[in-house]
Parts: sequence; structure tokens; C-alpha cells
Amino acid sequence: MFKKILYTVWLILFLMCIAVCAHNSNFKDFIQSIEYRTFDIRQSIQANDPGHLASSDIVVIAIDDASYEYILQKYGEWPMPRDLYVKLINFVEKQNPQSIAFDLMFVESMKSSKNADDMLIKAVTANDNVFVAMNFDNQPSTLRLPQSLPPHLSKKLTNYSENVDLTLQDYTNCRTILKGLLFGTDNIGMTNVLRSDDGILRKVPAFLRYKGDYYPQLALAVGLKYLKDNENINVKDFVIDKNSNLLIGNRKIYIDKDGGMILNWYGTQKSYSYIPFYQVIKMADGELSPNMYNFKDKIVYVGTTAVSLFDIKTVPISRGFPGVEIQATCVNNIIDNNFIQRVNLWVTVLICLLLCLVTVIVVLYESSTFVGALAALSIYMLYVLATYYVMRYWHIWLDIVYPLTFAIVTFTLAYIIKYLIKSRDFERQYILATTDGLTELYNHRYFKEQMKLVLETSKREGTLFSLIILDIDFFKKFNDTFGHQAGDAILKQVAQTLKRNVRASDIVFRYGGEEMSIILNNTDYDSAVNVAQKICNKIATRKFILPNGKTTEVTISLGASTFPQDGISSEEIIESADKRLYYAKENGRNQVGK
Ligand code: GH3
Ligand code: MG
Ligand code: MG
Repeated sequence: MFKKILYTVWLILFLMCIAVCAHNSNFKDFIQSIEYRTFDIRQSIQANDPGHLASSDIVVIAIDDASYEYILQKYGEWPMPRDLYVKLINFVEKQNPQSIAFDLMFVESMKSSKNADDMLIKAVTANDNVFVAMNFDNQPSTLRLPQSLPPHLSKKLTNYSENVDLTLQDYTNCRTILKGLLFGTDNIGMTNVLRSDDGILRKVPAFLRYKGDYYPQLALAVGLKYLKDNENINVKDFVIDKNSNLLIGNRKIYIDKDGGMILNWYGTQKSYSYIPFYQVIKMADGELSPNMYNFKDKIVYVGTTAVSLFDIKTVPISRGFPGVEIQATCVNNIIDNNFIQRVNLWVTVLICLLLCLVTVIVVLYESSTFVGALAALSIYMLYVLATYYVMRYWHIWLDIVYPLTFAIVTFTLAYIIKYLIKSRDFERQYILATTDGLTELYNHRYFKEQMKLVLETSKREGTLFSLIILDIDFFKKFNDTFGHQAGDAILKQVAQTLKRNVRASDIVFRYGGEEMSIILNNTDYDSAVNVAQKICNKIATRKFILPNGKTTEVTISLGASTFPQDGISSEEIIESADKRLYYAKENGRNQVGK
């Protein structure tokens, strides 16, 4: 009874825990943050895989610490004069690059000379392969008036996916870049990024919304030019299909629910050919050989990496990652068609169910707990390993945390249930082995065990105990007269009367046939005889009900004996009680023998 209450309370508590957890967003975030960490670990392992290399078609011209020093020394100021960018564009363009993309914002600046700005605008707009950046934010319009952007910069985007919510990427303001650039070129992309709750950058938005129109990511704009030139893929109107894929020719770029593209990372920080800005300027100035680097057909990204110039971003594979390489990674993903695709909830649920099913099968069919646990653990480890390879070769992000949590909980529950069933079976077996089916008294085998036990205890502790053996009078005749069924009914009722008239510490047995016995702990001979007499009277005076509804009377004869006065072995004590029972029979039955 107590056990049943305990199990019920436990089950209710358990279900309540699950219900509370399932409805608690903090809990979901907690699970999600661990899931993100498993993503990072998979990405970090993959980044060290020599087979997973960044594209050699992308090079980075970095305004690194050395370049920063060079500029300060030579020009004595920051930001550097914009003529230098003009110099860079003109020099690199001579080598026919695929494109030049600036992960830099050319904002209206009082520091910059009008002349240099005009030269830059000319250099950018004169080439159809030079890209510049802008950025959207949510500064209040009291601080800065939202700029109107020319319509040619926005893209048509239709979203058929129910999972993708593009309104999450709605911005109310933007930094103004040079008007000449805004109106002079189509090649402008935003460089906004998305950070998860843990501050780690895993995604960049493909498009974001500003004043109701959609503007593409800089990397997307650069990648589109690459696809147009190299694969003849030309997309003007963009579509996100039902399965959350942004369709670009044969490319499908998975878009996460907040409109982000989940980046697939390559190598470590130095994965792209990396050219210091000042060396390019020196090449342009003739101070270095112009053939030091080859920019032909390369996608050339220009950005800052100097410690004092860029904000350090944490990405899955590194704690300090320059923004320009995030852009490069995104373009690289477009070229290689390997953005990460996160599976939807139903796939995760299916995996959970499958792992739980396998777990239950293991628990059911493996009798050894150790082997079962080992087998389950191996299966979970195999699954984790599989998620790595699925990400490495198919770029698919299979959840780890939910499936493993469910599987482990299932494993624990399955074992608890298995042992509960086992212990219930054991109990049933035990009862079957020790009791008599008809009278529900303990059987002869158990009697022998108990005699041995009580003898040992009494000897050790110097206590005494008594034994009563009793036999129903003229039972054969009774059977012959009323039938065996009636005999059985009498046996049951006699057993019942015995049980009701002894103490809790006394044990009643069916000794055999219509003979029964009682072991009375800590009871001397006189008390045992009293008990025997009381039982004798009870039987003799009670009415026994026959199967046909009629009543009858029954009597018994009894004999008692006591340890140690009647013997010190089981046989001696039984024999002594038997003798007295025989005496009772001989002397008229329905009595306790002397
Ligand atoms: P006494 O007064 O000397 O004990 O006479 P008795 O007839 O009771 O003794 P006896 O040993 O001759 O007969 C015992 C009978 O008990 C024989 C058997 O048919 C009956 N018996 C033993 N076990 C069962 C049982 O499980 N059910 C029924 N109905 N009868 C049983
Ligand atoms: Mg008998
Ligand atoms: Mg008898």
C-alpha cells in the first residue's frame, strides 16, 4: 500500500516536472544554449579537418596592426585619407579581380576631404565589381533622421515559409554613407550580423527590412555576382520556399526562423589568403613588386583586423574573429553551396522517438544491466558521431541535446519499470513457493525452514518457543459423507479460525493433509496449551458453512511441545507434539493432548 502511494506520488511529481519544463521558456533556452555549444564543437572539429578548406578564390586585404602603424606614420591620422582606397581599387582592378568588396562604411565625414570622397565615388561607380557596405540599426529618429534609400538598392523578396519570420529583421534607421555611392552603384550590401543569446555569432541575415523594403547582405550581393559571372545564375526576384530555403539558381540557402543564414565555418582565423593593406599600397606606389600577389579572378575583401579598429566577434570556431572574414565565410558558403541547414522540429521529435525505441528494446532484451547500459551508451555515442558526419558532409544540423536527454530519461525509466516488474514477479514466486494454495497458510517446506530458524534464534538468544500440531477429527468420514468439496471448505475455515486466534508473531502452517501446525515465538508450554485449548474451543463452538449452504460442526485434536524442555532438535519437538496429539485422539478427540 505504502509502495503504491510512493509510486503514484513519484509519477505525479515526474510528470509535473516535465510539464513545467516544457512550458518554461528559460528551460527551452537552457537546452537551446547547450545545443548551440554542441554545434560549436562540431564546427571546431570540422574546422581542423584538412579536407574542409576555405576557397582559394577569396583573398582578404586586411588593415591589420602593421598597416595601421604604417598609415599613422605616413599620414598621421585615422581614418586614413580616402585617396588610399582609390589607390587600392585602381591597382587591384588592373589585375582583373572577380570583385572588390569593402567591409567598410564610407560615411559622410567632415574629416574627409570632398575631393577624396569624389574620387572614391568615381572609382567605385566606374567599376561594376566594387562593393561597399552599409549598416542598419534602430537608433531613435530624434538622434538621427532615417535616410531614404534609392529604390534600385532594394530587392524583391517573397517568403512562402511559415517558419521564417522576416519581421524580426526590421530596422528603423541606418548610417548614411556617401550619397554619391548610394545613388551611383547597385553594389551595396548591409553587414549586419545576428548573435545568439550567448553572444556568439552563428548567423548573418540574408536580407533585412528597412521602411518596408528588403536589402541584401553584402556577402550575398558579392556571391550573386560570382554566380552570375561563373555559373550564369541570375536572380532578380528572391523567393524563400515552403522549406525555408532561399532559392538562387541551383543553390538552396537555408534560412533560419529569424531570417539568418547559418554559416558553415572553415579552418581557423587565417583560413583566407591574407594580405596586409600597406603592402598593397606599397605595390601601388612601386615600393614593392606589383607581382607579389595575384588578384586575377579573386574575390578581394577589404576590412580591418587591427586590434584597435575592429570589434572582436566570437564565432563557433574562434573567440576573436574579424568581421571581414565573417563576410568571406558567407561568400564562401554561397560558392560552395554549404550553408548549414537546421532540421525542423518534427525530424528532432522523430529522432527522439527512434532513440527512445532503441533504448527500450535494449533494456527489454538485454538481461544484464551492465551490458544494457553499455549498449545504450554505445548507441548514443554512435548517434553523436553520426551528427558530426552529417554536418561535415551534408551540412545538416541534427539536434543532439533533446534526443539524448529523452533517450537517457527513457533508459532510466525503462530500468526502473523493469525492476519493479521483476520484484513483483519475485514476490509472486516467493508467495507461490512458500504458501499453500487452498488454505493460504504457509506450506510444509516453509514450516521446516521456520523451525530451523526459530531453533537457531532460540538457542543463540536463550529464549524458548512452542509448537502446536493439530488434526481434524474424523475427516475421512466427513469427506466420505459430504464430499471432497465440502472437505476443502472446512479446511479453509479451520485455517481462517487459526489465523484469527493467534498473535501476529505466531506462524500458522498447513502441515499436510488435514493437519496444521503453529509456531509460537517466546511462548512457554503452559501458554501454548492455553492457546491450543482456546483454539480447540473456538473450532468446536463455531458453525462451519458447507458449499450447499448448510452448516455443520467440526472438532480438532491438538498436541503442544516446547523448546528446550521437550527436545533441542526439530525432530524431537515435532515428535513430542505428535505424541500428545495422538494421546488426544486416543482419549476421545476434541481436546489438547497431555
Ligand atoms: P482422525 O480423527 O483419526 O484424524 O480420522 P481422519 O479420518 O481425520 O484421519 P485420516 O488420516 O484417516 O484421514 C484423513 C483424511 O483427510 C483423508 C483425506 O481424504 C482427507 N484429506 C487430506 N487432505 C485433504 C484435502 O486437501 N481436502 C480434502 N477434502 N480432504 C483431505
Ligand atoms: Mg490425519
Ligand atoms: Mg484427522
